[in-house]
Amino acid sequence: MALIVQKYGGTSVGSTERIKNVARRVAKWKAQGHDLVVVLSAMSGETNRLIALAKEMQEYPDPRELDVIVSTGEQVTIGLLAMALKEIGLDAKSYCGWQVKLTTDSSHTKARIQTIDDEAMRADLAEGKVVIVAGFQGVDELGAITTLGRGGSDTSAVALAAALKADECQIYTDVDGVYTTDPRVVPEARRLKTVTFEEMIEMASLGSKVLQIRSVEFAGKYKVRLRVLSSFEDEGEGTLITFEEDENMEKAIVAGIAFDRNEARINVKGVPDKPGIAYQILGPIADANIEVDMIIQNVGEHGTTDFSFTVPRGEFQRALTILRDVQTHISAAKIDADDKVAKLSIVGVGMRSHCGIASTMFRTLAEEGINIQMISTSEIKVSVLVDEKYLELAVRVLHKAFGLDQQPEA
Ligand code: ADP
Ligand code: ASP
Ligand code: MG
Repeated sequence: MALIVQKYGGTSVGSTERIKNVARRVAKWKAQGHDLVVVLSAMSGETNRLIALAKEMQEYPDPRELDVIVSTGEQVTIGLLAMALKEIGLDAKSYCGWQVKLTTDSSHTKARIQTIDDEAMRADLAEGKVVIVAGFQGVDELGAITTLGRGGSDTSAVALAAALKADECQIYTDVDGVYTTDPRVVPEARRLKTVTFEEMIEMASLGSKVLQIRSVEFAGKYKVRLRVLSSFEDEGEGTLITFEEDENMEKAIVAGIAFDRNEARINVKGVPDKPGIAYQILGPIADANIEVDMIIQNVGEHGTTDFSFTVPRGEFQRALTILRDVQTHISAAKIDADDKVAKLSIVGVGMRSHCGIASTMFRTLAEEGINIQMISTSEIKVSVLVDEKYLELAVRVLHKAFGLDQQPEA
């Protein structure tokens, strides 16, 4: 008998029929003698709908009130699942974040989990109940409802699994595991039986939204056994996130390709090549709470240089407005900017011990006539920024070039 935390995403609870399906799956695990804590997302499309409603009222919705609104999606699904379980003869009880209680800091719309009280849940489990918890939401010390950022139900699930010391946290979604890249873009993408924790962190942070990055961080910190599975298939082992490289692991150098369309590039040209310039450009951007991703500054020539960086697309106009002031201040020649760019990244722990991976990537893109606008690397990834219209082509050719469609030799 094990304690299992299962999380079902938006598509998996997208209708009452699908919630009944979830109930049947939960019942199957329960019948095997396991204790179940089930974390749910809102029905697919619901969180977007709620955000749009809020924006009809205020162009920049008040963050506290926005959380009041967007957290309601999960309150509906948990109630429906509790009913569905009762209908098939199981005892179940639903909890909102504040009822658990799951406390967070007060950063509305992107709050971080601080504590989880497991007492009531444990008591319910001991009575044989299925515990159902609303994902994505918590409560701050002032009693205000908070949410954990888009995709945050993954993090709720892993954090609950950590708090309850669950034997496994299963993330049920609309694909049957973590793939070499998004299977909706590359049909030849292959499911990975295992992926290392480090690779999963990179993939998630570089745009593979199959798991929210914070959920992977949590799993790493508390060594939660984490698995991604399909809620639409009956059998299947999905993908296990592993913490150690073991003998049986797949031996690919590149494990996967991640991409992110949420990028915009800003190039400040002809800036004086002297100490303090990077700070003068990026300081006001940081002060405005705009996250900067890739940064490039070249070696200067004739006393000036170019300085480029990327920001989230939604912050592009705000960043440009700030930089117009900075431009005058530092006497930069001009600003060249483009928000139709995308970042794609190859990820793999095998890169540590193999060279030539980046050059294969650059050659493959060159052969397709795809221009690289920016590059950044770390020990286990290479990222490039390209024109958005070439993104899907770039992902497909790289997927092939690195043999990701082929089963690696064990
Ligand atoms: P849920 O609503 O269940 O949380 P998400 O839409 O957040 O589901 O995440 C699942 C989606 O992630 C898949 O439908 C797929 O399109 C996308 N995805 C992106 N990269 C990958 C990848 N490497 N492997 C699997 N799915 C991926
Ligand atoms: N419902 C929230 C969202 O759409 C949280 C989640 O699904 O994980 O982002
Ligand atoms: Mg998700």
